[in-house]
Amino acid sequence: MSDEYWMRHALTLAENAWRQGEVPVGAVVVRAGQILGEGWNQPITLHDPSAHAEMQALRVAGATTDNYRLPGATLYVTLEPCLMCVGTMLHARVERVVFGAYDPKTGAAGSAFDLLQDPRHYHKVAAVQGGVLQAECAALLQAFFRERRAAASAAKQGVQQAPPPRQGSTGR
Ligand SMILES: [Zn+2]
Repeated sequence: MSDEYWMRHALTLAENAWRQGEVPVGAVVVRAGQILGEGWNQPITLHDPSAHAEMQALRVAGATTDNYRLPGATLYVTLEPCLMCVGTMLHARVERVVFGAYDPKTGAAGSAFDLLQDPRHYHKVAAVQGGVLQAECAALLQAFFRERRAAASAAKQGVQQAPPPRQGSTGR
């Protein structure tokens, strides 16, 4: 299975986040062609600041394998990971990290910080690949924020939401 294949899978997970009103990021942990864990961003839903997609996927992968270390695993995520997620990937000894869109503001895999492959870490992630399906991953995020801005400005201008269907109507 190619990197694009798994990134496409991560994108479908990111759509779950959008449906929950969360910033659409998805992640999947794969080893030897098998999914060990997957997840999507849901800090608002779970009241958990650590509930990023990568953290969710790593937690499931640890539970699936009965091991908090995941040697030989590749983590795919649709957005460049943040400081917290990079730290957790290092603790988990993930072998490879593949991400989609770059995050110039907070990305910790080379954009804002270059922590994933910092030589001071005891464990090093063997390989990092950014920009896989970059256009699709970035477009999903942009569409989400566009929709959110439109909703915010509609609310500000007092634009009324479509009324709910009347009780007893056929809906047609
Ligand atoms: Zn994160």
